[in-house]
Amino acid sequence: MASNLVGFVGLGNMGAHMARNLIKNGVKLMVFDLDAKRVAELKSDGAEVAQHPADVAVASKTIVTMLPSSPHVRSVYGTTSETVDNGLVAHMQPGTLCMDSSTIDRSASIEVAGAVALKKSAYVDAPVSGGVVGAENATLTFMVGGDKASFDRATQYLSMMGKNTVHCGNVGCGQAAKIVNNMMLGIQMIGTAEGMNLGIKMGLDPKLLASIINTSSGRCWSSDTYNPVPGVIEDIPPSKGYTGGFGSALMCKDLGLAQNASTEVQAPILLGSLAHQVYRILANDPKYANLDFGIIYQFLKNQAEKKQ
Ligand code: NAD
Repeated sequence: MASNLVGFVGLGNMGAHMARNLIKNGVKLMVFDLDAKRVAELKSDGAEVAQHPADVAVASKTIVTMLPSSPHVRSVYGTTSETVDNGLVAHMQPGTLCMDSSTIDRSASIEVAGAVALKKSAYVDAPVSGGVVGAENATLTFMVGGDKASFDRATQYLSMMGKNTVHCGNVGCGQAAKIVNNMMLGIQMIGTAEGMNLGIKMGLDPKLLASIINTSSGRCWSSDTYNPVPGVIEDIPPSKGYTGGFGSALMCKDLGLAQNASTEVQAPILLGSLAHQVYRILANDPKYANLDFGIIYQFLKNQAEKKQ
């Protein structure tokens, strides 16, 4: 049953673009997603459609997954008792390569890799940075965990969807790199939002303040490339109603992953924990949850306004 088909599960904001970039490179795809609309769009782009993850495993020895979080990945691979029958693992052919680009718990990657290994197959964790724009333009960076032979085999497909593919170490190391980066990003974004809000309340012009920070020691990616104050930088989500970016709920999830990792390896993350609590408040508020994580600036601004 093996063929040169590649299986792709998870056709969301990131996965749909990534799947299309494989098609553009001449790869034949079989896709699966719970969202029928997403599946129909990929079908019209030429992909075959599976009814279950199991169909993908039967048809293909090369599989990419791009799912929201650890429970979704466990469900699709079929490592939880409810999903075993229709999951990827139960039907996996020996010699299959699985590339999971979801951002999930490092321990979940290691667990799924273990289940895949029992089927004489290989798994790499390959989370990404670069966002939706990077997914669309095939400029993602993949942080890959797995043995070198699997990394080399994965690179030929990952390079069709991104411009950098970095081998971080064994399974789980890709997630480790991604989790650390996003924890620092969350902390940095809150710090930038606090500073900008404080300065603006003291009467400083937002663009002037940003230009001073960006030539001083307060400079960071959140101040010079993704400033959360609308109008400071054009054409980024904070200047477009906080739409089309990296949602606060996803940032909250990633900070939760950092929290889990810190407990597991006993490394204190004082500011990471605080950032997690801040984004939990945003993620639990329907006004903010699906808006770009730069919305923390508006949240802080609104708090101050309430007190006046
Ligand atoms: P998304 O929510 O837009 O898409 C997830 C897709 O998975 C959806 O289409 C959903 O229907 C599908 N899905 C969920 N459960 C499923 C199941 N059991 N079977 C099949 N399909 C299922 O998420 P996204 O923005 O594409 O992000 C995917 C991953 O990439 C997340 O882990 C996220 O943290 C990470 N990431 C996102 C960004 C970003 O900017 N959006 C950037 C870097 C990394």
